[in-house]
Amino acid sequence: MHFSDLGLKAELLRAVADQGYDTPTPIQQQAIPAVMTGRDLMATAQTGTGKTAGFTLPILHRLSSAPAGQLARVTKKPRVLVLVPTRELAIQVEESVRTYGKHLPIVSLAVFGGVGINPQIANLRRGVDILVATPGRLLDHIQQRTADLSAIEILVLDEADRMLDMGFIRDIRKIIALLPKQRQNLMFSATFSPDIRELAAGLLHNPASVDVAARNTAAETVAQCVIETNRDQKKELLCHLFATRGWHQVLVFARTKHGADALSKTLEKSGISSAAIHGNKSQGARTRALTDFKEGKLVALVATDIAARGIDIDALPYVINYELPDVAEDYVHRIGRTGRAGMEGKAISLVSHDERGNLRDIERLIKRDLERLVIPGFEASAIAPPKPVQPPRGARKPQPGRPQAKKTAQNPSRPQQHHSGNRHR
Ligand code: AMP
Repeated sequence: MHFSDLGLKAELLRAVADQGYDTPTPIQQQAIPAVMTGRDLMATAQTGTGKTAGFTLPILHRLSSAPAGQLARVTKKPRVLVLVPTRELAIQVEESVRTYGKHLPIVSLAVFGGVGINPQIANLRRGVDILVATPGRLLDHIQQRTADLSAIEILVLDEADRMLDMGFIRDIRKIIALLPKQRQNLMFSATFSPDIRELAAGLLHNPASVDVAARNTAAETVAQCVIETNRDQKKELLCHLFATRGWHQVLVFARTKHGADALSKTLEKSGISSAAIHGNKSQGARTRALTDFKEGKLVALVATDIAARGIDIDALPYVINYELPDVAEDYVHRIGRTGRAGMEGKAISLVSHDERGNLRDIERLIKRDLERLVIPGFEASAIAPPKPVQPPRGARKPQPGRPQAKKTAQNPSRPQQHHSGNRHR
C-alpha cells in the first residue's frame, strides 16, 4: 500500500513525501481511513509504530476540508484537542502536526506546565486549530478562561495508559465534561488494561478498533544483547564501550535521577559529551538537552524511565541499559526508542549479579534468551562481590590526604575483582 491510496489531500501527501515516507505503517493503514470517516477509534499502539501520523494526517485532512470560516484564525476557538501525559510528548506531537500540516493553513500549539503561561495565552488569543496539551496546564487555561473548548470537534487521548498511570484521570474527566457532546474521540494506548477499557467504554461510541501493539514488536526487531559484569565495573565498562565503538548517539537509561546525574558526569569526565534528563531538571534544561542530543551536539543522553517517555528521535542507533528497570515491560518501552520504523537499532544491557532476577523476568516477557556478550577485562566474577559496607550515619568521611585502610582482599568493604586481562583506561 502507498500513502496515495488512502485518499488524503495532496498537501498532506506532499508533506509525507517531504519526510521521505512512502509506505504507511500498519497502524496508519488502519487508523487513517477510519478517522477520515469521522468514526471514533480505539487503537492499541506504542510509540514507534507511527501512531502520531496515524491520527495527525486524517485530522488535518478533516479540518482542512471544512469551510475557511471555521478556521481558528477566524473563530479563535480550537477544533481539535490532543491530551498527552508529558511535556516532551506535547512538543513532539505538535511538531508532527506542523510537519504534516506545513502546506495547509492550520495553526497548532502545545501547552504544558513548567514554562511561563503568558506566551501560551498570547498564542491562544491569536487562534489555534489544533491544541496539544498536558491536562494540568490545560485546566489552568480553562480556569483563567484563556482556552475555550466549546468548539472542539475531535478529542485525542494519546498514551492514555500513561495518563492514567500518572494520575490524570480526574483532570481528564473534568476536561471531557467541558467538551461539546457531539464530537469524534480517538484513544491511543500501549496497553489495554481494565482501567483503559473502562475509560474507553464511557468515551467512545461504536469505535473502530486497531491493534498493532504486540508488546514485543520492538523486542523482535531490535538487536539486543547483555553484558554480564560486576556493578562496580559498569562505569568503566560504559566508558570503554564509548571509547572503542565510535558511538555518536546513545540513549543511556539509569534507574534514579541521582544515578543519571552521576553517570552523565562520569561520561563527561572521560571526554564523552553528555547530559542527564530527569524529573528534577527544569523544562528548559530538558528541552535543551534533547535538542542538543538530536542535533548531535551530545553523544550521550542519560535518562530515567519517566523522563524518556515519549522521546522521539529518528534513527536512534543505540540504547544502553546501564541498569535494568524493575518492571520488565519498561525494558520493552526502553528498547522501543531504537529500531523505529524499520531502522536498525541495537540495545545493550549491562547486568550485574543483583539484576539477574530482573533479566530473567525480561527474558520471560519477551519469550527469548538474550545473547551474552563478553568484554575481556570486564567479565562478571563467578560469585556476587559483597556489597560495599556503608559507613554508619554520622561517621566522618575520609579526609583527602589522610591515610586510609588499604583496599585489599582482606578488606571486605572493597569488592574483589576476579577478572584478568587488559583494562582499557
Ligand atoms: P510514532 O509512533 O508516532 O512516535 O512514530 C515513530 C517514528 O516513525 C517517527 O520518528 C516518525 O517520524 C516515523 N514514521 C512515521 N510514519 C512513518 C512511515 N510511514 N514510514 C517511515 N517512518 C515513519
